[in-house]
Amino acid sequence: MENELTGLQVYKFGGASVKDAAAILNLCRIVRDFGPQGPLLIVVSAMGKTTNALEEIYDLAYHGRDYSAQLTALQSYHEQAGKEIGKTLPHPGVELHKPDAGLESLFQGLANRLADLSPNSSYDEGYDQIVSFGEALSSYLVYYALASSLDEEVYHSGSMIITDSTWREGKVDWKETEKIVQGLSFNSNARILVTEGFTGQVKDDHRTTTLGREGSDYSAAIFAYCLRAASVTIWKDVPGLLNADPKIFPDTVLYPEISYQETIEMAFYGASVIHPKTLKPLADRHIPLRVKSFLDPGAPGTLIHDCQHPPLVPAFIRKGGQCLLSFESKDFAFISEENLEVIFGALAQARLKINLMQNSAISFSVCTDFNEMRVQRLLALLQGQFRVQYNSALTLFTIKHYDAASLERLTAGRELLLEQRTRSTFQFLVRE
Ligand code: ASP
Ligand code: MG
Repeated sequence: MENELTGLQVYKFGGASVKDAAAILNLCRIVRDFGPQGPLLIVVSAMGKTTNALEEIYDLAYHGRDYSAQLTALQSYHEQAGKEIGKTLPHPGVELHKPDAGLESLFQGLANRLADLSPNSSYDEGYDQIVSFGEALSSYLVYYALASSLDEEVYHSGSMIITDSTWREGKVDWKETEKIVQGLSFNSNARILVTEGFTGQVKDDHRTTTLGREGSDYSAAIFAYCLRAASVTIWKDVPGLLNADPKIFPDTVLYPEISYQETIEMAFYGASVIHPKTLKPLADRHIPLRVKSFLDPGAPGTLIHDCQHPPLVPAFIRKGGQCLLSFESKDFAFISEENLEVIFGALAQARLKINLMQNSAISFSVCTDFNEMRVQRLLALLQGQFRVQYNSALTLFTIKHYDAASLERLTAGRELLLEQRTRSTFQFLVRE
């Protein structure tokens, strides 16, 4: 087993890189012309904005509202891609790889699940059962396209990651996952295996979980860790890791090489190029991570690994959809350790993660991602003891390796609702 997997590479393709037939055919070209000779594990996200569409469909269904138009649109979108791929590829007649049958049965399964939803069941659990279909659909289409375009056997596997039952953010059971993943039968006939990102399953009852939005990068890292892969490549619509999002900042700089630690921090602050949980498993096993452009697969991109590098240019990171919560003790007492214990406990229970926090004499403030239901839950938990106020529709900016010019550039003319600085990092919160 060990030998067969020596030198395994992991490729992760995100939503944009599989968004339609042309994109999936481009993926096939990358695998064929730029891919390794040895074993390759391909991890895919749902096509384009499918996860958002499934979230909407699920929410409608859960609340007993009509979702049929959205479901039909999603089905046509996938069928259209399947048809176009089928028309273009050299071996479309291969019975086994017919896209229609596979897609049809997946959509049938999705429709049944939606019809069976009960308003009394847990919202988050149902979410995972439905939203996970995006990856089942896309990985099937990618498998179909690769199997039809390459002169070799390709394997397709459903989710192999074992988690606990923390819905929408399954915690990985590393031991169990390692057992399953290592049991994969890579052999000379099928050196390529396609699987889904983002999804997992609960060990004993196989109910589906997901790893958190944008979690497919993390899936790729989990597989790489378990298989002691030689490297991971994340294929994106940007040339690599940049010092800012080019959609927001015009003059970005590419980092050709960067350490795990720097990247972990950037991802934590909200650099959307890599999911924050991705780096640790890779750093633990010294597995290099490449970020490359699927639009320019020959370009070197960014290499993230164990390395020393000179000080970096300032990095600008923007995290939208934030809310600022402040807590004051009802009896105007100072914020004490006892109070903080209650507040932190409630934040954990409501599953709100702290992105920034600040304490003053009688008030304590935290910035978290805004999620209406979770914030309401927090309010319900704390309202007896604290006066809680919150503002939503905020953006958190982080400047790493800031200097006077970069500070001025980002803060000029803005009202800062909260700011914080360390030696290397400056963060502030503004209205969207
Ligand atoms: N499809 C999932 C999402 O959009 C996972 C991913 O793209 O990484 O959140
Ligand atoms: Mg996605």
